[in-house]
Amino acid sequence: MGEIKVTNLAKFYSLMLLYEGPKHGYDLIKTVGEKTGKKFSPGQVYPFLAKLEEHNYIKIKSEGEREKKVYVLTPEGKKFCEKMLHRFSELVELAIEPNLSKCAHCACEVYKGGYKEKIKEKEMVFCCSHCAASFKNSRHSH
Ligand SMILES: [Zn+2]
Repeated sequence: MGEIKVTNLAKFYSLMLLYEGPKHGYDLIKTVGEKTGKKFSPGQVYPFLAKLEEHNYIKIKSEGEREKKVYVLTPEGKKFCEKMLHRFSELVELAIEPNLSKCAHCACEVYKGGYKEKIKEKEMVFCCSHCAASFKNSRHSH
């Protein structure tokens, strides 16, 4: 039994939705479809759920008259999701890192744009015009 590989968005979203709370299989497929803008057939999602169950990451409960199946994450499943989220956020950070610059005044990270001003022939990046003003003020007072 190897580690579960989350190889596509449908699987990733399925996990994240289960992380929010217990879900019916049908709701899961529908919501994943809405989030990714693609249609998923139960045949694409249920084998993944079955695998999660094999690994003891989810439990299946039956509910109501028609015995609707509800998928619930186990504590192990929650840990798995957190690991996934962590990995994913690292990827996102890597992707946006080159676009980050720091405000020359307060040093907060500025993602794309921000406020630019030429000071002594040098283009400086600030998060906002207020920071630019403070920066200039502090220079004058020295
Ligand atoms: Zn700033």
